[in-house]
Amino acid sequence: MTKTMDRIQKEEFKEEFKKRVKDQAKMLYRKTLDEVSDRHKFVCVAYAVKDIVIDQWIATQKAYDEADGRTVYYLSMEFLMGRALGNMIINLSSRDEIKESIEELGLDLNVIEDQEPDAALGNGGLGRLAACFLDSLATLNYPAYGCGIRYKYGMFQQKIENGYQKEIPEDWLRHINPLEIKREEYACEVRFGGTVKIDHRDGRDYYGQEGYQAVMAVPYDMPIVGYGNNVVNTLRIWDAEPIVHFNLEEFDKGSYMAAVEQENLAKTITEVLYPNDNHYAGKELRLKQQYFFVSASLQTAIKKYLKKHDDIKKLHEKVVFQMNDTHPTLTVAELMRLLMDVYYLEWDEAWEVTTKCVAYTNHTIMAEALEKWPIELFSRLLPRCYQIVEEINRRFCLEIEEKYPGNYDKIAKMAIIYDGQVKMANLAICAGYSVNGVAKLHTEILEKQELKDFYEMMPQKFNNKTNGITQRRFLLHGNPLLAEWVTNKVGDDWITDLPKIKGIEVYVDDKKAQAEFMNIKYQNKVRLAKYIKEHNGVDVDPRSIFDVQVKRLHEYKRQLLNILHVMYLYNQVKEHPDMEFTPRTFIFGAKAAAGYKIAKLTIKLINSVADVINNDESINGKIKVVFIENYRVSNAEIIFAAADVSEQISTASKEASGTGNMKFMLNGALTLGTMDGANVEIVEEVGKENAFIFGMSSDEVIGYENNGGYDPMQIFNSDMDIRKVLMQLINGFYSPDDPERFRPIYNSLLTKEETGCADRYFILKDFQSYAEAQRRVEAAYKDEAGWAKSAMLNVANVGKFTSDRTIEEYVRDIWHLEKVKVEL
Ligand SMILES: *Cc1c(COP(=O)(O)O)cnc(C)c1O
Repeated sequence: MTKTMDRIQKEEFKEEFKKRVKDQAKMLYRKTLDEVSDRHKFVCVAYAVKDIVIDQWIATQKAYDEADGRTVYYLSMEFLMGRALGNMIINLSSRDEIKESIEELGLDLNVIEDQEPDAALGNGGLGRLAACFLDSLATLNYPAYGCGIRYKYGMFQQKIENGYQKEIPEDWLRHINPLEIKREEYACEVRFGGTVKIDHRDGRDYYGQEGYQAVMAVPYDMPIVGYGNNVVNTLRIWDAEPIVHFNLEEFDKGSYMAAVEQENLAKTITEVLYPNDNHYAGKELRLKQQYFFVSASLQTAIKKYLKKHDDIKKLHEKVVFQMNDTHPTLTVAELMRLLMDVYYLEWDEAWEVTTKCVAYTNHTIMAEALEKWPIELFSRLLPRCYQIVEEINRRFCLEIEEKYPGNYDKIAKMAIIYDGQVKMANLAICAGYSVNGVAKLHTEILEKQELKDFYEMMPQKFNNKTNGITQRRFLLHGNPLLAEWVTNKVGDDWITDLPKIKGIEVYVDDKKAQAEFMNIKYQNKVRLAKYIKEHNGVDVDPRSIFDVQVKRLHEYKRQLLNILHVMYLYNQVKEHPDMEFTPRTFIFGAKAAAGYKIAKLTIKLINSVADVINNDESINGKIKVVFIENYRVSNAEIIFAAADVSEQISTASKEASGTGNMKFMLNGALTLGTMDGANVEIVEEVGKENAFIFGMSSDEVIGYENNGGYDPMQIFNSDMDIRKVLMQLINGFYSPDDPERFRPIYNSLLTKEETGCADRYFILKDFQSYAEAQRRVEAAYKDEAGWAKSAMLNVANVGKFTSDRTIEEYVRDIWHLEKVKVEL
């Protein structure tokens, strides 16, 4: 529509848009636009934008219906969407007209955007990946639904009080959410508990459920706008409502209690997101959440299919369910149940369809993240699904036995039900037609170590899909200055074809281009410094090196290695006041799971170190340490744009991929990292001379884990630098009011007390190698032209890491979708 909008159309469009914004103020608030608050201005603008989006949404769904191709249902417990409005506007073809209209109304788009709460329905990387995938699917014209849960409380808001993390419930829906639509017409029932009832009729068994509790699943749709292609896909998130019976006469005591219980069940299911990243919490409510959204999503997907097709046995021709980690693995059992109990297929027929419909993505090899449900809980909550899983397991074990006669070790490792537990990964791999890892190294480790037995038995299922990120949010929206610079140099194709950004490579030795590039970085550092001043009250110098580690707080991600090094550096600066030193600002941002003690104590340590160092006038501000409160998508966009150094320092083998690493690269930061996850591929693309690599390899780490032989106490005894830093953890240097405060961290490094293993994540082992890499960072930064060149080369070579590429690979190898054009 608007690519070819002529001047008159453009003016008409703008007048119409401005009128709509003003009308919203009148209709919703009985005021003129300039009388309403900033938040209400956001609501007015959001409704006016939604109006444009809705027409494209309708057109898209109509085009999909007519094309009648395959649809992917991306099933995920988490969608870390962040704010929608700004992203929606940049993706619309009419973005320029909309922006001009907003300006002509006398509004500031940045202020308007800042009013929107983040949709934080996710913890970290896994949830953000789902959000990037939706952006790419829409931009690439693929029919897709995101399916998830509409948590009333998303990821908690983090406040820092006295240096400690405090969790505040994130009530993101307390005000109206103008960017969603409730779809009551798609509500469906989801049942829990009770017993399985079998009717024998006409020579076969019919399965039903008795004495269950039920809730109504009610979907809310959020539009996912593709970039400039008129496509609007759907994120469908489910809320639970009680099923109310108004037959009051039947209200004897028993049914009254049942009614209230159902009401409570509905309230609790979608109440809150579990705030654990890479960690399994075996809670009954979590299993309820999983079944709830899986069952509702499958029921509607099948009903939609049956509107246009009558042969349920061909479901796989039109539908694929991608399971984002094992969280939605109940898809396997629930699809079997629906096909057999509701649509009356025989076992073999249902299995054939199911195993052609479901695919599984593995996101971690960390043992504590593997989902296993006690049989007792699983069978009580989902009695019919449990029967089905038992039968799947019985048949699968027979297959294993046939392939490896007498090898009970294979059964022990691969069985779906074993040791009193239902192992969800084993179920996902057994039933899925595709099993993918999320970076080259991660997939190799799956094949050679963690999932070796499965890989040997069914190698054809395994494949790699290296993660990616959307450049539309993390460059075009998050870093408008750099985006414009790139476009001026090489045109705007990179917005939908990121490898085109390679075109800037011809400028890497051009002094003028280097100066422009570094000036943009400087402007972005000023923007972040202002944010830090406003939020932390700390002054940071935008001319210092911005050295950034933002990601969930986890021992394997080793924020502790980073802060121990800061403590070491501070000791050095104090001992050698005259040594050459480039001022450095160490920036952290991280939420810790609410029950993760050592992670929360690490936050306190970072803030305590910040307190001491930032207030030590004798070091002339050479080092500053900042902990940015409440790290989330909206402030992430500002942080990536301002980073010089990207800290990606996980213990090798532990970070499956990482996607933060890619966002930093896209914004011209240099990676300081281990050979882990997608760092390996980043270095492959940019060249190791444009990154700072250190530490043990994944093979070395796995070797120590399997064979032992690592003793951190030896390092403590022989390395004076490390010993001094560790002693400062327990002599009150950073905690004069309570010298014992950081003892658990000290113990985690040197004793088996905390985790049954001293320095499980090899922090001391990698320390000197890390410190040496940090010295290379400092030396490199002194060479201004060299640094500018390396930073520009990072941007130039980021092409592989767009989620557009990842999605095209999923489509080619797993989903087999066809692109659909949408004309207005
Ligand atoms: C990208 C992103 C993550 C993932 O970061 P990693 O460094 O890959 O762990 C987590 N949280 C937010 C808000 C993100 O944008």
